[in-house]
Amino acid sequence: MVHRDFNKRLADYQIIRQQLAEVKVLISSLKPWQLSLARQLDELQAQGKPQVELFLPLVEFKIHAAEVANKATKAALDVTGGYGYKKGVFERLFRDARAGIAMGPSNNIAREWIGKSLVGLPLELWYEGGINSHRN
Ligand SMILES: Cc1cc2nc3c(=O)[nH]c(=O)nc-3n(C[C@H](O)[C@H](O)[C@H](O)COP(=O)(O)OP(=O)(O)OC[C@H]3O[C@@H](n4cnc5c(N)ncnc54)[C@H](O)[C@@H]3O)c2cc1C
Repeated sequence: MVHRDFNKRLADYQIIRQQLAEVKVLISSLKPWQLSLARQLDELQAQGKPQVELFLPLVEFKIHAAEVANKATKAALDVTGGYGYKKGVFERLFRDARAGIAMGPSNNIAREWIGKSLVGLPLELWYEGGINSHRN
């Protein structure tokens, strides 16, 4: 794409290149972590141990992956200007990435669990009385 008024491509703007690089580094950070978790899950399974032992590390990964997807799709909208806002692949990816933040456990709740585990508080994953007790 060329801006005819200045005869410059988007690739000629340093700020655009910086944004792309920032996202690239973030995405690259996910792969080794993902593979390490997959290996640990395989090992637990092979040893017949419950995979729930990896609960919090998996929650940490969920948070980071969702945040990276949000940063990446936000940058994609920014870099592509008005074109990105039009109905199509970029706006769709942005909306899908937002779902990752809300999907259970939402990132807010997931961060709460991690924070609680760091200070030694119980995670309180669900209400002891259960849903039906609200109706009594
Ligand atoms: C695309 C998509 C796919 C989904 N797929 C499934 C599925 O396959 N199966 C399924 O069971 N559900 C699914 N869900 C539902 C999903 O699990 C819930 O949307 C999610 O748990 C958030 O619950 P909620 O929508 O009731 O929002 P709420 O719980 O009302 O959350 C509203 C806001 O409050 C915050 N919040 C809520 N409680 C706390 C707390 N204790 N501490 C701090 N902050 C809090 C949340 O982070 C959020 O910001 C899906 C949702 C989406 C968007």
